[in-house]
Amino acid sequence: IYPTASLQAIDAAHHIHPFTDTKELNEEGTRIITRADGVWLTDSDGNRIMDGMAGLWCVQVGHGRPEIADAVHKQMSELSYYNTFFKTTHPPVVALAEKLAQLAPPHMNHVFFCSSGSEANDTVFRMVRHYWAQMGKPEKQVIIGRWNGYHGSTVAGTSLGGMKAMHEQGNMPIPGVHHVDQPYWFGEGGDMSSDEFGIHVARKLVQAIDEIGEDKVAAFIAEPIQGAGGVIIPPETYWPEVKRILKERDILFVADEVICGFGRLGTWFGSEYFGLEPDLMPIAKGLSSGYLPIGGVLVSDRVCEGLIDKGGEFYHGYTYSGHPACAAAALANLEIMESENLIGYVADDIGPYLQQRWKALGDHPLVGEARMVGLMGAIELVPNKGDRSVKFAHEGSVGTMCRDLSFQNGLVMRAVRDSMIISPPLVLSHEEADLLVATTKKTLDATYNELKR
Ligand code: PLP
Repeated sequence: IYPTASLQAIDAAHHIHPFTDTKELNEEGTRIITRADGVWLTDSDGNRIMDGMAGLWCVQVGHGRPEIADAVHKQMSELSYYNTFFKTTHPPVVALAEKLAQLAPPHMNHVFFCSSGSEANDTVFRMVRHYWAQMGKPEKQVIIGRWNGYHGSTVAGTSLGGMKAMHEQGNMPIPGVHHVDQPYWFGEGGDMSSDEFGIHVARKLVQAIDEIGEDKVAAFIAEPIQGAGGVIIPPETYWPEVKRILKERDILFVADEVICGFGRLGTWFGSEYFGLEPDLMPIAKGLSSGYLPIGGVLVSDRVCEGLIDKGGEFYHGYTYSGHPACAAAALANLEIMESENLIGYVADDIGPYLQQRWKALGDHPLVGEARMVGLMGAIELVPNKGDRSVKFAHEGSVGTMCRDLSFQNGLVMRAVRDSMIISPPLVLSHEEADLLVATTKKTLDATYNELKR
């Protein structure tokens, strides 16, 4: 066992970190997390820190659940790995496919497995294009995503997403992908009311479809609530209008449920919360609470019929599609979610409890808006409380400061530009919710005082 400083030095010498500013890393060193239980992380110096982000929006049932470890151990002892290619399958993956068909909206009875949300979206990319080719419309190939959406880091994921900083690296997006505006009323709504803005942004989709040509557009992909983009909760008018447009134009709808799925909004899927009727739903993260890597694409009966029921082969798959140990982890995780009624707990108990207290932080002098649905929330930090059009001089610097102060105070929050994000495990207790809000308040005070110095 190495002491913290040696681990940091070895890590710095050999480990390339995802999404990490190396300048910050070199100045401050890595934080080394050694254990976790429930909503609590422990670092290599023995500090306890509340995991306000459920890892990366994924640890729904909390850390360290022995039920999942035991299920994985049992599965690994029986069949640690076998593939699902060439007409083979195995019991845990069959059980998981059946379970997902039960939980998904009634018209979605099929699942394709992979290992992550990014792979799920790569799968989506190929599925929608192949589907239209199978339907005799091979010219329908363009996929429309949204600016500031996030759909993963693979080539297709980066392209479908609308993160400009990601696009700048590696010459993205690949051809055949377009982006439309996001329904980000706080940041981009101007003088419009939230409802007006919802319709205004939805109509941008019509404009894009007309420019590209309706006969060329295969699909629209969006997160029910944009997560990594900053917990962008759309105006109430937005989704009904988008739904109507896609139906009218016969364009497939892909609801990326990688964050919103599995209870985050107090429903099994974000689509259920907003009354969406997607054709495809990429899933990952909360499916196994992150205990082992597993993702998938839930596929509607209509798309499945076009895609494979006509016969022939979809030349697509991963060595770990339907990995038995990962499927066992997912099944044990879903069993916990059901037996502990975590969906009901988020919808009717801890969700409303935390939302009320979180939204009250909107009164803080540094806060322009505090919003939350289910257990997914954001706080917009602003220099001038009365005017949301005024931004900080160096975008992101106050957010980063606040994030670091929060960590020092014992709470992991994420900074997206100058908004602070939380997405805690769904098992959060009332006392932990109180502590989360108190620590956030303390951190906002500290950030505010720091700015006044
Ligand atoms: N889609 C959404 C909405 C996500 O938030 C993420 C990850 O944060 C992904 C896809 C990519 O998932 P993964 O990191 O498992 O590849």
